[in-house]
Amino acid sequence: RPNSPEARDIRYHLHAYTNARKHQETGPLVIEKGDGVYVEDIAGNRYIEAMAGLWSVAVGFSEKRLVEAATRQMSKLPFYHDFGSRAHSPLIDLAEKLVQMAPVPMSKAYFTNSGSEANDTAIKMIWYRSNALGQPARKKIISRKRGYHGVTIAAASLTGLPNNHLSFDLPIANILHTSTPHHWREAEPGESEEQFSARLADDLEKLILAEGPETIAAFIGEPIMGAGGVVVPPAGYWEKIQAVLSKYDILLVADEVICGFGRTGEMFGSQTFGIKPDIMVLSKQISSSYLPISALIINDKMFEPIADESDRIGTFGHGFTGGGHPVAAAVALENIKLIEERDLVGNARKVGAQLQARLRKLASHPLVGEVRGVGLIAAVELVADKASKAPWGKPAALGALVNGLLQQNGVISRNMGDAIAFCPPLIITEAQVDTLVDAFERSLDAALPQVRP
Ligand code: PLP
Repeated sequence: RPNSPEARDIRYHLHAYTNARKHQETGPLVIEKGDGVYVEDIAGNRYIEAMAGLWSVAVGFSEKRLVEAATRQMSKLPFYHDFGSRAHSPLIDLAEKLVQMAPVPMSKAYFTNSGSEANDTAIKMIWYRSNALGQPARKKIISRKRGYHGVTIAAASLTGLPNNHLSFDLPIANILHTSTPHHWREAEPGESEEQFSARLADDLEKLILAEGPETIAAFIGEPIMGAGGVVVPPAGYWEKIQAVLSKYDILLVADEVICGFGRTGEMFGSQTFGIKPDIMVLSKQISSSYLPISALIINDKMFEPIADESDRIGTFGHGFTGGGHPVAAAVALENIKLIEERDLVGNARKVGAQLQARLRKLASHPLVGEVRGVGLIAAVELVADKASKAPWGKPAALGALVNGLLQQNGVISRNMGDAIAFCPPLIITEAQVDTLVDAFERSLDAALPQVRP
């Protein structure tokens, strides 16, 4: 139908992260409304949203208290900002809340609109600090292959995925990438998790020494890599990496954009893995993505030099018009309150244990290479051949096939290559996890005859 939403989407809309040419033929899945862990398309089909949108809708798709918080704030003060000496109550309350709930001693919160902007801001704060300390050469930041930190010019440079660099002349100068902590894919035969972690820490140290420790300002990582394929760090990884960073006095940025606010069964992924960051980057589940908002929490080691430098040159010359928007801040505060009141972190632990156990039972399926995850974040990596870990034809073909079957079976997930990710709202119940994994099992069984005719 020429005027259907699908046809108009094809005609007028260039999508984020899509094969734009192919989309002209296949068109969109148009989602109309949400209810708890479910979303419904315009044809009335209901799906379990097993990715919580984009790893983000912690409280589900129909939380009235967030709507009311937004409406109240919209009526009272629809916009204000924090440039210079200006402030507003939702932002003061949110800053206090974030600093107080941080798992390590923190000093200040700074507000932005998206994960990418927050990571760009982290880079600028780190560079600013190096100037303040009289170390202008200390500008290099080490990220990881397959890490995901966003898409603005600098955040895309931190991101360690080829699609984010190809055609964009990225990464920019001063951004380096070290090894991915994916034991199943990257370890040498017979290498234990601890040995693998030690080798990766050694790789990091070699990179630091080759570049010159006096040029390295910071290391950034997600506690669990999300978009890189839900890569759970192997035993000893964060401890060994942090020992190297401490040795050379290198700052640590924890990108908690996915892990933050309960995903791993603790409030922050940093707690799950014993990470002690100087900067924490927060977004997504901070507001359940009902409105865009992101934040950085920084410690005194960051704040004091920034304060000195801004005094020296007259300003900290960085800020976004919508950064810490009062309506988004009010929603974030109410969302965090809900996460605490309803113990959604406890639910992520409890129902997450069930999700992990049920997925691990699928490890013997002929198409399953690896099952990985913690709490309510997981991925199942599919292979055509278990022994060689070889894909089915082109990489991502099997992931796309199973992802499509899963959608037909009433579950929206996402394939990152051949890894199928699950990251449902934190309110999900055990019964809903059963429905989800049953649908996944049916999808795997339906794919098998196509892979092994
Ligand atoms: N950091 C992480 C860990 C993410 O997963 C994402 C987005 O998925 C970002 C940063 C970028 O956030 P945004 O898409 O809001 O710019």
